Amino acid sequence: RFITFEGIDGAGKSSQIAALVAHLEGKGRVVDQTREPGGTELGERLRELLLHQPMHLETEAMLMFAARREHLAVRIRPALDAGRWVVSDRFSDATYAYQVGGRGLDPAKFAALEQWVHPGFQPDLTLVFDLSPERAAQRLAGTGNAPDRFERERRDFFERVRGAYLERAAADPGRVRVIDADRDPATIRGEMLAIVEERWP
Ligand code: C5P
Repeated sequence: RFITFEGIDGAGKSSQIAALVAHLEGKGRVVDQTREPGGTELGERLRELLLHQPMHLETEAMLMFAARREHLAVRIRPALDAGRWVVSDRFSDATYAYQVGGRGLDPAKFAALEQWVHPGFQPDLTLVFDLSPERAAQRLAGTGNAPDRFERERRDFFERVRGAYLERAAADPGRVRVIDADRDPATIRGEMLAIVEERWP
């Protein structure tokens, strides 16, 4: 089984990933926890470039999918073939949300790359942690201060990213489940585990 976690920065994915992995391992599942961009030696080197090196938007999209190609070949598919569970912090929905929704990549180019790198393959379950950019920024900063101009631009960006995630969920509701992340962590965890338990009792 392949489960992916998605959401804007500050939506609270990390602690919920840890909770899901602990839950699955408690049930005796063997879990490979990974992340994108990253997950392999090459992928982590590409991640460093993607996060710190300014580049053309299409270069960024191609490097995201290059890292993903490697991740699938050396880690995700071998683990799934061996019967392990794979839990990844982000996958292709993030490229749709950030590069297409957030930065304006042509969706046809995204679709072509996705079709090249993983034709007919998607996660079994994708959990989108949905939170307003305002709440996410507050959570990251730990303050409720009024935004400056730069922060307002970031909010517009994250509003587009959020909208693109919701589009992906609407297009494939059987795979992509949206979890309201503006609640206390225990409630969110309960809903997440209920979704997974319902799918794989
Ligand atoms: O999820 P994580 O915190 O590891 O992401 C690292 C950074 O990369 C975040 O700031 C995220 O917004 C960004 N990112 C991106 N495009 C993606 C995936 C992540 O800009 N496709």
